[in-house]
Amino acid sequence: MHMLFWGLGTSALVAGVAYRKGSLSESGFWGAVLVGTLIMGFGGLLWYCMLMAFFISGSALSHYKKERKGEVEANFAKTGRRDFGQALANGGLGSLLAVLSRTVLSPGAAFAMFLGVMATVSADTWATEIGVLSKEKPRSVLSWQEVPPGTSGGVSLLGTGAAVLGALLVGLVAHIGLRLSGATYLPMGRTLMAALVGGLAGCFTDSLLGASCQVIFRCPVCGTETEKREHCGRETEYLRGYRWLNNDLVNLLASGVGGLVALLYLA
Ligand SMILES: [Zn+2]
Repeated sequence: MHMLFWGLGTSALVAGVAYRKGSLSESGFWGAVLVGTLIMGFGGLLWYCMLMAFFISGSALSHYKKERKGEVEANFAKTGRRDFGQALANGGLGSLLAVLSRTVLSPGAAFAMFLGVMATVSADTWATEIGVLSKEKPRSVLSWQEVPPGTSGGVSLLGTGAAVLGALLVGLVAHIGLRLSGATYLPMGRTLMAALVGGLAGCFTDSLLGASCQVIFRCPVCGTETEKREHCGRETEYLRGYRWLNNDLVNLLASGVGGLVALLYLA
């Protein structure tokens, strides 16, 4: 029980800093506090460290070369200041797994899935924040046509390399934590590969869904295709994709695939 209070305190502190630095909106602050409290409270310290590896690296990367990302930010939902929906898209499944690890799931299975989930959201964030700076234009993972930087489903060499690093970061924290705690519920030495395989599978799912069935809108003023409901101060019009499948839901589904792949890899 006292871990919930530790989770609440540390999460409020970390999310408060992120809010002041402009990485979280006000609703994003509350989302991050909720996620952090549940993951520390039910998952424990190692789970929380893996969440922090993702959150702190992702927030830092969102500030990196910020001025060059401005234009991309105006059209695509992913980069920049995170709101409540994005906090849950990235941390919702992890929070659920933390709670389930205390009830219906075995600790090993829950941790394996959490590893894949966090590796996916980290890989995806790294790929977005660094890939957007690629000098080469990204290509659609489906049609292999060039697409504007930041487009969901667009992939570049730089972004893919960043995804690998983002997944490995979470895997490394997990590996060190398991070693220090002497936990025996996971095959030691396979956590890095599990994070890499799960993270890349999740990332690929994200790109595939983003390029195929995620909802896309069009700005009635300037004609730009965008993921946002508002552009140039006006409400955007529906263009294509499933209306219910927004960027946050795509992230959530992709992290689920990453979790399952990591679980299968470690089984
Ligand atoms: Zn516009």
